[in-house]
Amino acid sequence: MPDSVSENQSTPPVVQCRRVVIVGGGLAGLAAASALSSRGLAVTVLESRPRLGGRASSIVDRETGETIDNCQHVAMGCCTSFRHFCEETGCAELFETQRELYFVGPPEQPNIVRFAASSMPAPLHLASSFLRMPWFTLGEKRQIAFGLRALAKDRSKADCSFQEWLAGQRQTETVQRRFWHLVLVSALSESLDRISFQHARKVFVDGFLASREGWQVSIPTVPLDDVYETRIAATLRKSGVEIRTKAGVRALFTDSGEVTGVELRDGSHVAGDEFILAVPHYLVRGLLPTDVSQLTAMAALDQLETAPIASVHLWYDQPLTELPHATFVDRLSQWMFNRTVLSAGQAAAGEDREAVNESGCRLQVVISAAHDLSALSEQEVVARVDLELRDVWPDKREAKLLRGRMITEHRAVFSPLPGVDEIRPEQQSPIPNLQFAGDWTRTGWPATMEGAVRSGYLAAGNILGRCGSSESVVPADLPSARLYRWLFS
Ligand SMILES: Cc1cc2nc3c(=O)[nH]c(=O)nc-3n(C[C@H](O)[C@H](O)[C@H](O)COP(=O)(O)OP(=O)(O)OC[C@H]3O[C@@H](n4cnc5c(N)ncnc54)[C@H](O)[C@@H]3O)c2cc1C
Repeated sequence: MPDSVSENQSTPPVVQCRRVVIVGGGLAGLAAASALSSRGLAVTVLESRPRLGGRASSIVDRETGETIDNCQHVAMGCCTSFRHFCEETGCAELFETQRELYFVGPPEQPNIVRFAASSMPAPLHLASSFLRMPWFTLGEKRQIAFGLRALAKDRSKADCSFQEWLAGQRQTETVQRRFWHLVLVSALSESLDRISFQHARKVFVDGFLASREGWQVSIPTVPLDDVYETRIAATLRKSGVEIRTKAGVRALFTDSGEVTGVELRDGSHVAGDEFILAVPHYLVRGLLPTDVSQLTAMAALDQLETAPIASVHLWYDQPLTELPHATFVDRLSQWMFNRTVLSAGQAAAGEDREAVNESGCRLQVVISAAHDLSALSEQEVVARVDLELRDVWPDKREAKLLRGRMITEHRAVFSPLPGVDEIRPEQQSPIPNLQFAGDWTRTGWPATMEGAVRSGYLAAGNILGRCGSSESVVPADLPSARLYRWLFS
């Protein structure tokens, strides 16, 4: 089929929207389902796995019987679509907003610095916390401040690697590693040479510079399954969405240039009027009709590279720390989430947190951009992380590690390489009644829960548009602070 399929869509006719079929019950598919069902459309979600949530999901640890997440998922304050989605589906109360972060200095200076906003307006609200970090010299702090200012001012469309951009800003190797890499590896799960300038700029501007709330972190207080599989599924079902799990789709059928239905792996068919394909990018082409999957824009999906994220779960016989989370400088461990403390806040509402803690603790340590971990065994990684934690909290050296395990998601996120946004397709597919949704589609956001929800909202908006509505589904971004605009606009 020629690439001109997409060119016939410039003035789409208004169509009658009856049933929307969504393939994929990850956040993108669920967000689209929420947006469409709340506007009165009939929606069916088909999910191949037994549970919803896609890459944000939980498993039961056989040895302890506990439900643990494949990996801790956090959302920043600038994730407005994700927050809206949580409010719409009644799960916002299952997240706790952290207005303080804790940075643990490098091994030779393991001070713990509390990081919180002062009363100054953005972009100065975090300056005093940053200035308290003793592992940066005064010269390094000045370098970082100049780098941040240059980043905010640089509105060029050029998309080199962020490491190349930093080289032009005279940022030393130590500053690159202990500041720029530290923030970006957690946000984008890649190393500086594999992150585009545009994606890096977005993290710092939206997250840390433009508004006072963008940097705050929302963490679920319950396992992810309780959020997506239980709470959101119940809300969607109540609003009339038909959710079918273990309903893997084998192929999409077309007739006269439109999708008419999907075939499930068990051979049954589901018909619909509008369709959303919300599966991971590497599965998209296999579900499309051959003539569409061979279009240049679709073939380009094969060029999207991915990055692994590992999470190490550790059970101790006693609490190592009362901190709910911590970010580590210059260590293999990047973020520690104290699941015992975090879930105590929710489960034991009103109960004494320490009482919940006395019986031991479970920590989850995240290692993003985990490319190099494949050279190590699971036991080696667990042992190194355990050592690092004991080094940070030396008075707990006698604590007994009861169990440790590592879960690695090898294709956790797409790599935000320079030029990646050119490869990401719009939500409107080359077939008029088929939308794409997923963090990999063109949203302006990296592979995040926010990106996934935005893509679902954009896909839903396109369907509403085809039904004659001009309503915008995507909520507004956080407004930029006046001082930020004055300094950098
Ligand atoms: C380890 C890890 C840590 C992460 N940490 C964070 C974080 O802290 N913050 C953050 O914002 N983001 C994080 N992310 C990214 C975030 O999880 C994803 O961006 C988001 O969940 C993607 O949602 P999605 O709906 O686009 O895709 P997916 O979650 O991949 O959903 C696609 C769904 O389609 C289903 N499917 C596939 N094929 C078929 C088929 N043939 N028929 C029917 N269904 C099918 C899949 O089973 C899946 O449920 C992390 C990801 C991982 C893996």
